[in-house]
Amino acid sequence: QSDIPETNVDVLIIGAGPAGLMAAASFAHLTAIPSASPLSVRIIDKRSTKIFSGQADGLQCRSLEIFDSLGFADRAWKEANHMIEICMWNPDATGIIQRSDRIPDTIVGLSRFQQIVLQQGRIERFFLDNIQKYSGGAIKVERAILPTSLQIGEERVKVTVRKLTEEEATPPQATTGSKSDMTDGLFRSNLVGDDYEDKNITDAKGGEEEVINAKFVIGCDGARSWTRRALGPEFELQGEATDFIWGVMDIIPLTDFPDIRMRCAIHSANDGSLMVIPRENRLVRLYIQLKEVTPDASARADRSKITPELIFGAAQKILRPYKIDYEYCDWWTAYQIGQRISPSFSHPSNKVFLAGDAVHTHSPKAGQGMNVSMQDSFNLAWKVGLIAKGICHPRILDTYQSERRRVAQDLIEFDHKFSRLFSGRPAKDVMDAEGVSMAEFKDAFLKGNLFASGLSVDYGPSSLVVKSGDPGELGDRSVRSRNLEGVRRITVEEFEVKQSLAKGLPVGMRFNSFKVLNQACARPWHFQERLKADGRFRIVLFAGDILDQAQKQRVEVFCDKLSSSNGFMRRATPEGAKIDSVIEVLTIHSAKRTETELLRDFPDILHPFDPHTGWDYNKVFVDDESYHEGFGNAYKNYGVDKEKGCVVAVRPDQYVGWVGELEDFEQLQEYFEGIFLV
Ligand code: FAD
Repeated sequence: QSDIPETNVDVLIIGAGPAGLMAAASFAHLTAIPSASPLSVRIIDKRSTKIFSGQADGLQCRSLEIFDSLGFADRAWKEANHMIEICMWNPDATGIIQRSDRIPDTIVGLSRFQQIVLQQGRIERFFLDNIQKYSGGAIKVERAILPTSLQIGEERVKVTVRKLTEEEATPPQATTGSKSDMTDGLFRSNLVGDDYEDKNITDAKGGEEEVINAKFVIGCDGARSWTRRALGPEFELQGEATDFIWGVMDIIPLTDFPDIRMRCAIHSANDGSLMVIPRENRLVRLYIQLKEVTPDASARADRSKITPELIFGAAQKILRPYKIDYEYCDWWTAYQIGQRISPSFSHPSNKVFLAGDAVHTHSPKAGQGMNVSMQDSFNLAWKVGLIAKGICHPRILDTYQSERRRVAQDLIEFDHKFSRLFSGRPAKDVMDAEGVSMAEFKDAFLKGNLFASGLSVDYGPSSLVVKSGDPGELGDRSVRSRNLEGVRRITVEEFEVKQSLAKGLPVGMRFNSFKVLNQACARPWHFQERLKADGRFRIVLFAGDILDQAQKQRVEVFCDKLSSSNGFMRRATPEGAKIDSVIEVLTIHSAKRTETELLRDFPDILHPFDPHTGWDYNKVFVDDESYHEGFGNAYKNYGVDKEKGCVVAVRPDQYVGWVGELEDFEQLQEYFEGIFLV
């Protein structure tokens, strides 16, 4: 009998980087979902503090949409530098770099947000504040805690952890400062062997131990993930490293280069390539190709040769004839380009999951690492949370692997192509087969922008997404076959008919946003603002022309079924809880706002009555002109018929799960019965 203290929790998150913090924040937002007992979540990290400078900085449109659904996009939006234009610089016939092209940084009209840049430490700060606010202090990062063993049992996963001393939990890292006083910028870089940063910790004797018995464990512990290693060799990252080594410096530049406040992709004739990322607080990040350092026979570069002087010298050469220097450096590092992915993101028991850098690593220039990592755990956390609360069927957990591994695989393929085009020497002319065609590079950049925005993610058919296609062939090259239980089958022809009801809302993709007005108060809202990440599914009822008698009757019949005591909505909602506590119905109609009355024209279930707070005035919206913010044309943009409307089921992470007619109630019911424990 061991005397190590034991604790039970629903969820243990290992690692408090962007992926772990996104998971914790998502759990914190589930507090309003009814459950017999509150969800207990712990998040541990071996480090004594969050990071304060460097590492990732790019925030893509989709990440900002997610931040907004959690309530803190405005903080990032205000503090960050906004990326508006990309300038391409290539050598001319005489070998001198010239600006050859300008393209918008974010594809116009793609999202209500555009790409911004802000250092990872600030983003971690926003998460920490958000977790504190929404969990009421119940979830907090426990620092200087190291997991030492993991055993998967029938009911729970047993994780033994050890408290670290302050010294163990604070390894040396790069200092911010003037040119002369920067120490080890390669701390945490992929050029550093596994043994380096962990040496302190593994050699140390140790503090108190504790056993945490968790229903679910989420490993978000970065590229050298301990959790991944604990799951066994079949989870090891697979892929390849290239010979390309790049340095990164965050500096305040002193330069005559004209586009230093633009995002630039610069290919020099013979000295390598450089990317300029203008940042907040006058900072500029430079990604600099290091042609003078190449990996040795063991495929690893000699890190002792990589210094800020060497990196910056390379940047000065690439930028010639322009001059660049600096006094202040905020952070620097170097990395070797490679692409690696784990064959599996979840243990077959569906009790242990891996997210973020723990399961995919690639080069950072496309600004994807932090974004895709956060989106992994955003995809996973609500599923785990709703199952732990006894609301959803455990089968939905299979979709984590099938949805996210495919995104990671696409990312790896994109990065493979993109990083080689970036690191290659520009072709001198069409006959120069070994050089990179700058037209091809620009094309890859343009196509890459859609991918990089995070908005091209299109989840395949599953228990959560009703669309045609073979769920077994999703590009999901997992080590285990997928569990197809609960996958709704629909033929290609049937699906085309359904999808044609809302062409602008592709099933499997995120719910796009256009402006609509609140019926009760005429305030314009971006509709996506109403899709909060609070764990609730949503039914969006496009009610069409509610003033047309025949259409009004269709809406009433649909609403009668929704309200019925044996309908899925009542059965999915725990006894005694509010009718909108796990599935919320939001309405957008297309009649004139001023001719329509909320209480007269819309059935009660669309604006439920509460004896303490009255009617709910925040659920019915109209596609009409606003006084101050124009006309969102939501029906037109969503591709929905203005007379007849349609019904759309939306997952808690804003992805469209099902589309149908108002008469397709049984199919909608079947969709929810496959997900909820009704
Ligand atoms: P991480 O951010 O790595 O977080 C993992 C967390 O787990 C850390 O807090 C760590 O302390 C903790 N942890 C690790 N092991 C354990 C353990 N055994 N027990 C408990 N806790 C543990 N991205 C870009 O877009 N641009 C860049 O220029 C860029 N540069 C980078 C430079 C470096 C040196 C590194 C390391 C990363 C860089 N990235 C960059 C990548 C980006 O930071 C990651 O993609 C992103 O942070 C992934 O988030 P994550 O939460 O999955 O992992």
